[in-house]
Amino acid sequence: MPELPEVETVKRELEKAVLGKKITAILVHSPKLIREPAVDKFKKGIIGASIKNILRKGKLLILELSNGKSLAIHLKMTGQLVYPGDGKKARVVFYLSDGKNLDFNDQRLFAELRLLDDWRSLKFIQGLGPEPFDLGRDAFKEMLSTKTSKIKPLLMDQTFISGIGNLYAAEALFRAKINPERRANSLSEKEKERLFKEIKDTLLEAIKYKGSSVDQYVQLTGEPGAYVKFHKVYDRQGKPCLVCKTPIKRTALGGRGTYFCPKCQK
Ligand SMILES: [Zn+2]
Repeated sequence: MPELPEVETVKRELEKAVLGKKITAILVHSPKLIREPAVDKFKKGIIGASIKNILRKGKLLILELSNGKSLAIHLKMTGQLVYPGDGKKARVVFYLSDGKNLDFNDQRLFAELRLLDDWRSLKFIQGLGPEPFDLGRDAFKEMLSTKTSKIKPLLMDQTFISGIGNLYAAEALFRAKINPERRANSLSEKEKERLFKEIKDTLLEAIKYKGSSVDQYVQLTGEPGAYVKFHKVYDRQGKPCLVCKTPIKRTALGGRGTYFCPKCQK
């Protein structure tokens, strides 16, 4: 699933490609993706408006429109935004005033598109925890010290901290040398500080390389993100740890595949 670096990449590319452009028509091939309002209202509320501002909140993209409404897009598992699109795989096509189209593709149809009067009142937004980049080190340490849950599922809990998913939780924990099954409140001061630093460094590096193309994520151009080749543990089970050569292990934790080095991560 696209996480903070992937959604941030798409956001930055959208800013360059479509900001200020008007949406002149919409074609909806898969009405299931339009969560609110009804498809007719969704189209009517967007057509004729231009894209005024683009935001990201956790893994959610928000396109603020000139008519005061906002289009909120959650890519979920396999959502893709592609510009300029060719329409071939598109579930929803946004035709723009430059004569090109912005395609929304989604192989598995889990994505969610909403047209909102006020995105701030969306329940999902109100429940979001702070982003790693909006947090100070001491605030992060304090947050961990009150939690008895295991550290990896905690980092993936969007109401605790937003933007981190399965992939970057695994990578940051490896870099911080922390076993994914540790209880959050059992981490030492040093470990918490290391984790805070590694979360931010990992996300920034991934943004630099335009995200990780696992599953279906692509950049706005349709090209893959290049960060996969820098992964240290994710999807590397059985391969030697890049630090100590012990084979990387995969276990299930909170129902998700979890990759770690049993020797480096204590
Ligand atoms: Zn190791």
